[in-house]
Amino acid sequence: MTITYEELHERLVEQEEHLLEQVHDIQQSVREEGVGYSNHMADAGSEVFEQARDVSLARQLQRSLEDTQRALQKFDDGTYGLCESCGAAIDMTRLEALPSVRYCMRCQSRREGA
Ligand SMILES: [Zn+2]
Repeated sequence: MTITYEELHERLVEQEEHLLEQVHDIQQSVREEGVGYSNHMADAGSEVFEQARDVSLARQLQRSLEDTQRALQKFDDGTYGLCESCGAAIDMTRLEALPSVRYCMRCQSRREGA
């Protein structure tokens, strides 16, 4: 049985909640680490590294969150499941694997220059 649009919507809502929590946690930890530890010389290097990793993770999460919210917005617009490039309906199996995907398989591979 294939997934329905309702189920995809539910998944996206759950995904958004989950991502919001993660983004919040990371922002919190970056802020806490940034305060008080900056003069701690012993393992400043690894802390800088940790922080850089958190920042890049936060950026990654932020991007996933934006993708998820964009997909949810498309439900409101009635354009969910349509390729943003050519307007073709995206395969349900593709949507099931990647609910926030923006392009159909063909446009995606063209954009990636494959
Ligand atoms: Zn397309």
